[in-house]
Amino acid sequence: MQCPVCLEKAENLTPNTLQGVVVGCKHCGDYRISAVAFHGFMRLEADEKRAALAAARSTATHGWPMIGNAAVPLR
Ligand SMILES: [Zn+2]
Repeated sequence: MQCPVCLEKAENLTPNTLQGVVVGCKHCGDYRISAVAFHGFMRLEADEKRAALAAARSTATHGWPMIGNAAVPLR
């Protein structure tokens, strides 16, 4: 798959049991995008995606940083 943030080649690490997408990217690290936030996230500009990922990373306490609805600005 393609990393939604940096557009480089990335691995799809999503477990079958999980809602949403887990991306394994050499540049961005591993992170999760929740199912509800996914479409909104994909519409963001590149710098907004990077900011959303940085925010998710700063609040992650365990496991993958999670990009949820709160990380996706409403338009
Ligand atoms: Zn990336």
